[in-house]
Amino acid sequence: MKKTLLMFSLIFALTATLNAGPKPYVILVSFDAFRWDYLNRGITPNLEKIRENGVSAISLRPSFPSKTFPNHLSIVTGMYPAHHGIIANSFQDPFTKKIYRLSDTNAVRNGRWYLGEPFWETAERQGVISASYFWPGSEISIPYRRPTYNQAYEHARPYETRIDGVIEWLNLPYEKRPHFITLYFSETDDEGHPFGPDSPEVNEAIKRLDYLTGYLFNKLNETQIRDSVDVIFVSDHGMTKIDKERRINIENIIRDEKCRLAESGPFMFIEPEKSKLETVYNILKKNEDHYKVYYKKDIPEYYHFNDHPFITSIVVIADLGWSVITNRKSEWDALGDHGFDNHQIDMHGIFLAAGPHFRKNYRTGTLWNIDIYPLLCKIFDIYPRTNIDGNLDRIEFILKN
Ligand code: AMP
Ligand code: ZN
Ligand code: ZN
Repeated sequence: MKKTLLMFSLIFALTATLNAGPKPYVILVSFDAFRWDYLNRGITPNLEKIRENGVSAISLRPSFPSKTFPNHLSIVTGMYPAHHGIIANSFQDPFTKKIYRLSDTNAVRNGRWYLGEPFWETAERQGVISASYFWPGSEISIPYRRPTYNQAYEHARPYETRIDGVIEWLNLPYEKRPHFITLYFSETDDEGHPFGPDSPEVNEAIKRLDYLTGYLFNKLNETQIRDSVDVIFVSDHGMTKIDKERRINIENIIRDEKCRLAESGPFMFIEPEKSKLETVYNILKKNEDHYKVYYKKDIPEYYHFNDHPFITSIVVIADLGWSVITNRKSEWDALGDHGFDNHQIDMHGIFLAAGPHFRKNYRTGTLWNIDIYPLLCKIFDIYPRTNIDGNLDRIEFILKN
């Protein structure tokens, strides 16, 4: 009996080792607000090389709302924002009145807001050391919910320093070296808002990111593991032109009705006093022009945006290019924005990937950002969480057989 048990254990150990193979390395790079078609402007020779050496999708569909925090979390959790909990860049818990805001360090580090499991948490639990050179959610104060290595977000940190930091991690002794690393650049978002997606400023931003792509690959080529690294480039959403002439002041419409208003621009959260819910909805419905107004329960199914307790009773979504504003936001002179219907092609981002696990010179249609989490689990051969919205079947074909 003992002998049989020993034999079984030996066979089990042997198959486990044979199946495991060398542990992959994946760098997940995000270019904030890099619209899908920026790749087609003829100014990105380094990204073009990745297209030739790897996989490129026509676009990457974000989740609603097409904002930074909701989508970075969708990418790493495989869940829609209403399920992973980061439903906007800022929102309120109506029960405790606590506010989540991306500029509030205490809030972004507080685990109470994050309902999904980011890939680094899944990975670490299964023996894959992870690191993050910036990513929304990577600073959670609970140690087991964040990567082994991370950095406190600093908008102005030079881009080369970020890449050098990643390379340092990859040069650590094997036992300490991370296998999954995130990296983030805000450049195209920084220029896209003030100048708009078709501006020379955005083209300069695109060129800088392309230069940094070359810089990253040159540095990677100096490491010993260069042939084992997969690099995935994504963006959280795109960008569309907005202007002063296409603004609707919601406060002018609801006038004296007291409401809690949150967010503005592409959408607005509206919480009227309980007794005034129908009145406010009816006023907004009567004036519905260049926006759509919904009761929370009636938000169309395709947004996957109605089953989180912090979504307000009324949500207004502006038509593409229009802005819903309050008195406070009326002086905002941006020429570009995002956050609109995630099915609008202007809201789509990029997906490019190259490395040992990916097909070469393989072009495909639109991919969905919620499918990246199961893809990462497949690459690392680890178990995904089963409560996700993403689906490996929609993306697995981009991997080598
Ligand atoms: P938005 O365009 O409003 O969706 O948000 C973009 C902004 O998010 C950028 O300007 C960044 O400064 C900010 N941001 C991106 N990542 C982080 C992070 N990890 N922590 C705090 N802020 C971030
Ligand atoms: Zn963004
Ligand atoms: Zn932005």
